[in-house]
Amino acid sequence: MAGRISDEDIALVRERSPIADVVGEHIQLRNAGGGNLKGLCPFHDEKSPSFNVTPARGYYYCFGCAEGGDVITFVRKIENLTFTEAVERLAQRAGIQLRYEQGGYVPGREQGERLRLIEAHKAAAEFYAAQLATPDAAPGRRFLSERGFERADAEHFGVGYAPAEWEALSRHLMARGFTSQELIKGGLAREGRRGPVDRFRGRLVWPIRDITGDVIGFGARKLLDSDDGPKYLNTPESPIYHKSSVLYGVDLAKREIARRSQAVIVEGYTDVMACHLAGVPTAVATCGTSFGEDHIKVLRRLLLDQAEFRGEVIFTFDGDSAGQKAALRAFQDEQKFVTQTFVAVQPDGLDPCDLRVKQGDAAVRDLIAGREPLFAFAIRSVLSRYDLNTNEGRLAALDAAAPVVASIKDPGLRKAYLVDLDRWLGFMDEGFVIQRIQQVAGLQRGPQRGPGQQAAARPGRP
Ligand SMILES: [Zn+2]
Repeated sequence: MAGRISDEDIALVRERSPIADVVGEHIQLRNAGGGNLKGLCPFHDEKSPSFNVTPARGYYYCFGCAEGGDVITFVRKIENLTFTEAVERLAQRAGIQLRYEQGGYVPGREQGERLRLIEAHKAAAEFYAAQLATPDAAPGRRFLSERGFERADAEHFGVGYAPAEWEALSRHLMARGFTSQELIKGGLAREGRRGPVDRFRGRLVWPIRDITGDVIGFGARKLLDSDDGPKYLNTPESPIYHKSSVLYGVDLAKREIARRSQAVIVEGYTDVMACHLAGVPTAVATCGTSFGEDHIKVLRRLLLDQAEFRGEVIFTFDGDSAGQKAALRAFQDEQKFVTQTFVAVQPDGLDPCDLRVKQGDAAVRDLIAGREPLFAFAIRSVLSRYDLNTNEGRLAALDAAAPVVASIKDPGLRKAYLVDLDRWLGFMDEGFVIQRIQQVAGLQRGPQRGPGQQAAARPGRP
């Protein structure tokens, strides 16, 4: 049974865990005057900050959802830990060796599940990183060097190699006291007939870290022809790995995202590396899933500027499917977010990693600098499917673009895009364009528009 942590140690943990620092690892805090800090509450969804931190008194309080407490409560709530686990986590962070009152301290015994899984992942990441130097990892080193990455780059991002064996990692971790249960629960191994079998074998692996820098999972790239698995394999959902909110690179990017009020969303691990190395340190990537609501929440907390969420979220899309994806984004995401969303598409369809290899660092920075507002991009990519030299083509293009324009909720912005659309199509008749869009989208314009009249503005099927 777990011993009780001594009160003295709990007090020490509180003292050595400044609440502003601990909270600041999760959300962006701004000066709120009077010695207070504020940010967007991580415990409820909000758009203007009501989450207050008072460093002098060591506590936080949210005026929106009435969640409050000290630094230990914060860690308990945000990481979903027991009291003891939260104290252990903070102790680890502050470099404090805890003393337990009964039963003494047996390493690995009292610790909570989350801490054990974090430790297992830390050990796994070190194991993989060391394997990258072995002869067997030659295909992995070749993969990296072909993409313009040097040894120091691989080390900076912690890239490693998973040996092409059934249980290399499992044996290594079990020799260090981790149980097969823990390996399976954390997604490092799966159940085999005679014990755990490594999940990643013969692959290049990227450690995926949470916002505080703890490794919580891995992304693994196939290297060998004999591997009949998918090109990329990721850690499955686990007690510490939640793919809907994981952003690869967020631990490295978070400060720059806050400082520059900009986040760049790329599609893969190598793209994140390429962007950071090319001077775009705000790049992150989703891991084996598309960008969704939970990712928006993570970014919004980092992008908080003064009193509200500002800044830009820039998506890089590859050329082919870019228009379609942009249009979907424009329809699906909440509009406040959409109006701050930009799209950067390389005309010849090169992703940031390839672009850096072929054209150098400056080309990657130019790609991001050449971003375009999402609505503009979505509308123009609809138009590009039509022949605008004929009346028939222009009218068909107008009808196809209508739902996008009609879906813009801000009346001023909608008007601005109506004017643009008219100009792009060359009708030189805004009245006609407005009328046509109302017809097609069934949108009732005007100040008295009630909620029931909100048009059925849905993306048209191509
Ligand atoms: Zn709240």
